Amino acid sequence: MFQNVTPVPSDPILGLLDTFRADPRPDKVNLTVGVYQDDHGTTPILECVRQAELQLLRDETTKDYLGMAGNPAFPHVIPPLLWSGAETPDASCCATFQTPGGSGALRVVADFLHEVTPQATVWLSQPTWPNHPGIFQAAGLRTQDYRYFNPSQSGLDFPAMLQDLQRAADGDCVVLHACCHNPTGADLSDSEWTEVGQLLADRHLVPVLDYAYQGFARGLEQDATGLRVLSRLVPEYFVCASFSKNFGLYRERIGGLLAVGPAPPSVASVASRLRISIRTNYSNPPAHGGAVVVTFLQDSALRDLGMGELSAMRTRIATTRRDFTNMLQSLDLPRDFSFLNRQFGMFALTGLSPNQVRQLNQEHGIYLVGSGRMNVAGLNSSNLERVARAFASVVHRDGR
Ligand code: PLP
Repeated sequence: MFQNVTPVPSDPILGLLDTFRADPRPDKVNLTVGVYQDDHGTTPILECVRQAELQLLRDETTKDYLGMAGNPAFPHVIPPLLWSGAETPDASCCATFQTPGGSGALRVVADFLHEVTPQATVWLSQPTWPNHPGIFQAAGLRTQDYRYFNPSQSGLDFPAMLQDLQRAADGDCVVLHACCHNPTGADLSDSEWTEVGQLLADRHLVPVLDYAYQGFARGLEQDATGLRVLSRLVPEYFVCASFSKNFGLYRERIGGLLAVGPAPPSVASVASRLRISIRTNYSNPPAHGGAVVVTFLQDSALRDLGMGELSAMRTRIATTRRDFTNMLQSLDLPRDFSFLNRQFGMFALTGLSPNQVRQLNQEHGIYLVGSGRMNVAGLNSSNLERVARAFASVVHRDGR
């Protein structure tokens, strides 16, 4: 069998990371993978996490399996975090599962959807996180794009988004990025959330809210706007949360899946099927990441510490966006990059062409994803000016 297997290209983003690691240039800059880096270029372990881990090491009594739903405290601790207090749904109408990362939550939903509504189309923003189509298609579902971003204006194309979602059929699912849209950094405003929520409700579409960056855009509470608006307007929806980014727990694989509905019996039925999907995927989630999150969120001092650390990451991202934009503007470019400072989160679609991305890589050792996506958090006080000047050189060369 093995001899008949042909290789497929490596994941474009993770493949780039390998190339970056092998690059011997000492001043190379990695702006590819969506991982937060501090001003020293490291991805730190948060102090709230370290202290929670010390507690766990001291107090943990067993390595017995967790149940399929994960840490028993998860349903009490996670919904109030995601909704940021106000409007958290009643536990009887909200089934909560601990999952291996946001990716695990998305795959569990995808398998569930394929099981109960295989004819549904899953609508994805164009562009979106490159793993979205793969996850839903691997579960056997059909995906379709809705327009989201206008590259010529480097901003959201809201009328086009509404127009495309009008074409979705009753019962289709729509994946929405709660905040810090990946890869564009262009988010919906509060009033746009309301319009989208109304459209989904009117057309009986089921949102799958991908909530991977809570706290990275405007703050924990403001970043809950999309979720709150949907929960007011739409009767049934899924939330796929990730704690990889906001709590720096990437490799611990910790996320959450929530299924929210109008009535306890239907939510219980959905939960029973989600359990099957969990059972047949990974049986039950790894314990450590969930235990860490629950431990620091339940301890008020550690929670405050963690919220402060999250806020510092958010501030650094916003300040870096501002400084990079100002630096580019001071270089008198034939192109306006001010949009970078109006967007949220780690990602920006720079609008650089594949050729300009290649020049940055080959001539300057600066790595962006081929689409022109950059991770703003890869910039720091020792490389920001050099990267801006390299951008300027490739833009000046093309005259745009
Ligand atoms: N959703 C989006 C939009 C993401 O950008 C990511 C990670 O980059 C995820 C989901 C998955 O996160 P996790 O690492 O928790 O699986």
